[in-house]
Amino acid sequence: MKTKYLTFGCVIVGCLLVSPFLVHNYLAQQEAAQEVVAPPQVVEEVKTGLAAIYYYEEDKADRYTAYQELHPELADEDIVWQVNAGLDAPFYENIQPADTTAPCLIVNKYYALSADYVPEDLVALPSGKKATRETAEAYAAMDAAAKEAGCKLYATSAYRTYEYQNTLYNNYLKRDGDVALVDTYSARPGHSEHQTGMAIDLLGSFGVLRDFKDTPEGAWVKENCYKYGFIIRYQADNENYTGYQDEPWHIRYVGVEIATAMRELGITTLEEYVVKYIDHQPPTVEATAESTDC
Ligand SMILES: [Zn+2]
Repeated sequence: MKTKYLTFGCVIVGCLLVSPFLVHNYLAQQEAAQEVVAPPQVVEEVKTGLAAIYYYEEDKADRYTAYQELHPELADEDIVWQVNAGLDAPFYENIQPADTTAPCLIVNKYYALSADYVPEDLVALPSGKKATRETAEAYAAMDAAAKEAGCKLYATSAYRTYEYQNTLYNNYLKRDGDVALVDTYSARPGHSEHQTGMAIDLLGSFGVLRDFKDTPEGAWVKENCYKYGFIIRYQADNENYTGYQDEPWHIRYVGVEIATAMRELGITTLEEYVVKYIDHQPPTVEATAESTDC
C-alpha cells in the first residue's frame, strides 16, 4: 500500500515538474504555427519598359515586341497604343465588328459595321442629309455660331447606307483602277464613318470639298468645331494611322468632352485617345496630404 502511495506521489510531483515545460513547448508550437500562417508580405512589382506604361496589356506582349522590331524609331508609348488599336496588322486585315454600344464608336479599317446597321435616331440636317439626333443638334449649334461669325456651312454628305457606300467605293475603283489609291480617300462598305450617322462632310463658300480648308469656313471649323463636340477626323499628321488623306472637311461628332480633351492633349487620332483615355484611365496624381498653411 505504502509503495502505491509513493508511486502515486512521484507521478504527481513528476507531472508538476514537467508541466511548465509542456506548456512552454505548446506555446512555442502555437507561435511557430502562427508564423507559418501569417500572410506573406506583398512586394509591389516594379514594372519597367513597355510594361510600365499604364495602357500596356499583358496579352499583347508578343505583338508589342514584334511591332517594336519593325518600328525601332517609335517611342514606347506609341508602340503600345498603336498595337492596342490594332495598327500592327495591315489595313483591312483582322477585321472585327465595330462595337456600336461603346462609349466612343470606332469605325475604321479594322472595325466594320454590318451591312444592315442603321443608326436608330436619324434626323434631317438643314441640307436634307441625315445624321443622328445628337449629331444634328450639335451641328445646329455650330452652324448658328458659324453664321454669327459670317461663315456659311453646308452639310453636303452625312449618313450613308452600306449600299450607297458600296456603290461609291466601286465607282471610284472603276474610275481609278487602283485599290491602294482608292483606299486612301474612300472607305470600303461597312468601314465608313458616314454609316454611323455621326460624320459630316462640309462645304464652305467655295463650294468644293478639296478647297474647304482654304475657305473662311474651313479656318473657322478648324478652330471652333471642338466646342460643339466635333473633331476633324483625318488630318495630315495621322494619315499613317487612319489610312486616309487629309480631309479637313470631314468632321466626326464625339461629344464636347472628348473633342475638348483631344484638343487640350494635342491628340488628333481618335483611336489613340480611346486607348489612352477610354479603354484605360491614366493614373491620378494623389494629392499630398500636407497642409500648405503655416
Ligand atoms: Zn466624309
